[in-house]
Amino acid sequence: MALIVQKFGGTSVRDAERINNVADIVTSTYRQDNDVVVVVSAQGDTTDDLIAKAAEINERASKREMDMLLSAGEQISASLLAMAIERMGYPVVSLLGWQAGFDTTSDYGNARIKKVDASRIRKELDKRRIVVVTGFQGVNRYGDMTTLGRGGSDTSAVAIAATMHADLCQIYTDVDGVYTADPRKIPGAIKLPTISYDEMLELATLGAQVLHNRSVEMAKKYNIELEVLSSLTREKGTIVKEKSNVEKMLISGVAKDDNIARISIIGVPDRPGLAFKIFSKLASKGINVDIILQSIGRNGTKDISFTVEKNKMEDTIELLKSYEETWGASGIVSDDNVSKVSIVGAGMESHPGVAAEMFEALFSRNVNIQMISTSEIKISVLINKADGERAVEAIHDKFFEAV
Ligand code: ASP
Ligand code: MG
Repeated sequence: MALIVQKFGGTSVRDAERINNVADIVTSTYRQDNDVVVVVSAQGDTTDDLIAKAAEINERASKREMDMLLSAGEQISASLLAMAIERMGYPVVSLLGWQAGFDTTSDYGNARIKKVDASRIRKELDKRRIVVVTGFQGVNRYGDMTTLGRGGSDTSAVAIAATMHADLCQIYTDVDGVYTADPRKIPGAIKLPTISYDEMLELATLGAQVLHNRSVEMAKKYNIELEVLSSLTREKGTIVKEKSNVEKMLISGVAKDDNIARISIIGVPDRPGLAFKIFSKLASKGINVDIILQSIGRNGTKDISFTVEKNKMEDTIELLKSYEETWGASGIVSDDNVSKVSIVGAGMESHPGVAAEMFEALFSRNVNIQMISTSEIKISVLINKADGERAVEAIHDKFFEAV
């Protein structure tokens, strides 16, 4: 008998019909003599709707009350799914985060899982029950409900799989796997049979919203294989694991992130210590910096540019302006009409020339590059937002046309 964790996202449990479909998948897994733990997200747009409801009443509601509210979404889908399974004649029980043993930090709205005490789940499985658990939530040391951050149900599922040493952790969603590019935008996008944790992590942070980052980090740490698949097509999905098998593929995906802004500090004195001062100020304000570019000193001054998340742009500018004089800078400029386009692939570690190919693709469509950054398995360029789609297309064609 195997232990299988199956997680279903909001679109998979959107309405009664979809819930029945999920109940079908779950019970057929159970019938094959498996122990099944199911983790569910809130139905459809429930979480967004609840946030909107809160805003109507109190725009500055405390995070504790927000979590009290948001955790209700998953309670609805868990109980409804249990009812559907019940009606099909199978033994089932639904559990809230705290009942399932999710012990989290106190950080309302973005709590981290400290530990999962799976004894209750185990007990229920031993009675041959299907166990449905609410994703996205837990309880902190004050006994209050917490939530794990948007998209956190994936992480709930992986945490159960890791704690209980599950044989398989399936993440059912509305796409049927991980693609080489967004399949809604790039018709030639290819579904990957496998992808490594590291590649998936890069893609996840780059805006390929398939899996919650923290779920991939956790899967990597505990070496849990994940399968990303669709609850509608029931086709084989993509397996996320330590090493992908797709050796002949140089890169595994192209991603675009529009949620980004570029900021430059112009004409700072070219002497030691400034980068330290600037970036430690940003860090102390919790502003995450991504690509950094420093020009070479000329006539005693240099420019430092970097990117931040778009919603941090105003705060960043304000902060920099308050130090502009102290630092002796001659100006701050910013632009949020930019996109970051990246290619990710474990294959590039051992193949020179990948960057050149990417730049050639951009050149062929006359796309200008503003900034470049690279890591072992990733190359990112910052370009004009208006060029974004064209750039992804050109790069994707270049690397995947022949595949
Ligand atoms: N319902 C939560 C959200 O919408 C958690 C999840 O779907 O994973 O963010
Ligand atoms: Mg999700």
